[in-house]
Amino acid sequence: MSDVVVIGAGIAGIQAALDLAGHGIFVHLIEREPSIGGHMAQLDKTFPTNDCSMCILSPKMVDVSRHPKIKIYTLSEIEKVEGEIGHFRVTIKKHPKYVDEDACTGCGDCVQICPVEVYNRFDAGIGVRKAIYTPHAQAVPAKVVRDAGHCIDCGLCYDVCGPDAIRREDKDEEITIDAGSIVITTGYTIFDPRRKSQLGYLLLPDVITSLELERMINASGPTGGELRRLSNGAGPKSIIFIQCVGSRDMSIDRPYCSCVCCMQAIKNAILIREKHPEIEVTICYMDLRTYGKGYEEYLERAKRLGVKFLRGMPSDVLADKKGLTLQVENSETSEVLTIHPDLVVLSVGIGPADQTGQMAERFGLPVETTGFIRPLNDALDTVGTLKPGIYVAGTVTAPRDIPDSVASGGSAAMRAFIDTARTRSE
Ligand SMILES: Cc1cc2nc3c(=O)[nH]c(=O)nc-3n(C[C@H](O)[C@H](O)[C@H](O)COP(=O)(O)OP(=O)(O)OC[C@H]3O[C@@H](n4cnc5c(N)ncnc54)[C@H](O)[C@@H]3O)c2cc1C
Repeated sequence: MSDVVVIGAGIAGIQAALDLAGHGIFVHLIEREPSIGGHMAQLDKTFPTNDCSMCILSPKMVDVSRHPKIKIYTLSEIEKVEGEIGHFRVTIKKHPKYVDEDACTGCGDCVQICPVEVYNRFDAGIGVRKAIYTPHAQAVPAKVVRDAGHCIDCGLCYDVCGPDAIRREDKDEEITIDAGSIVITTGYTIFDPRRKSQLGYLLLPDVITSLELERMINASGPTGGELRRLSNGAGPKSIIFIQCVGSRDMSIDRPYCSCVCCMQAIKNAILIREKHPEIEVTICYMDLRTYGKGYEEYLERAKRLGVKFLRGMPSDVLADKKGLTLQVENSETSEVLTIHPDLVVLSVGIGPADQTGQMAERFGLPVETTGFIRPLNDALDTVGTLKPGIYVAGTVTAPRDIPDSVASGGSAAMRAFIDTARTRSE
């Protein structure tokens, strides 16, 4: 039976890999980051149940790592794809980790002794990590990676490493895989709010993104779960969420709805109010889109908890003597309000992951004007593509939430499974 290559190990790719492996198919799971898990690993809780995100994801990550029919390639990317359904030849480039993965025990001694601290992408920029690091506490594989770009080669990690796992030299490795089908689940990236400089992101320290907020309120995040103003470290007394930052905005060529931002803002507002009823939380919105099962009830729960919903969009966030200041017209009453929040959270939209266009080109797949990969048919075949044997799932085709990403991952897996069964009977 032929193998399947799954590219991108977020929740959609993980689900596809587990479903295929559960049906006896060998899966090669390719992930460009040092750990599998994708964005779901960065989230604190998930709407509309407020389940802890890692409590759902982490057992699946462990299942993937232990499954005899799944091989994980991290820090790896696709170089070349040749062939056709039943007979693909996929060449991947595995980037150097400067660590012997078999020897590393993940004890973390090297991380502790490393003197270099750099910006931590996993914490969305509000935390730091070392130059030799594990991406996060529940990373899979639970091994360290040496970031050669920031390492000062002081040698302390070599000295402290018992099993001698740290390599001074390492290089790219090229691996070729034969596969019957391919599932692409390379996910999304968040909108860079610097493109809307009037909102003050990276100019005013107390303007943060929704992903930064997720890391901040996460008990294993950089502040240990404490809400903090980045300007002075104090807890905020009032928070404003600004919705649709990078969504439904023709001025920056992002006409579409990002699908999850209303719900994630409601979720985080609920979590904040439940833990800190003294903090005033207001969500400034255009429309509230609570389209899924239990979502409208979730909105009602937020209202009962005292979250304020203000229909109106502030055009800019400024700083004055009182701190942050913004003006917003309540479009239901036409009243113009001036607000001085302690913290502003930009609910950033979802766009295609970096290099989605190049990857689609490599596979000969069309992309939408939005940059997402176009599935065969938006209504009738949302995981098939123009190329037989190549499937797409999760947010690589459009913004969607976790339940929809899981469902499409499973659906793409079953299509790839049918291919391999057909190839066998031919
Ligand atoms: C702030 C915020 C809060 C959210 N909260 C919720 C919530 O509470 N509930 C909910 O249902 N949804 C929520 N979402 C949406 C949720 O994050 C997504 O639905 C889900 O993570 C999508 O999973 P995915 O696997 O499609 O993509 P991703 O999680 O983006 O995974 C894609 C994976 O592919 C990898 N990759 C990318 N390019 C390549 C490449 N070229 N080669 C190899 N690997 C590659 C990436 O590194 C990543 O690991 C939230 C989103 C945001 C922004």
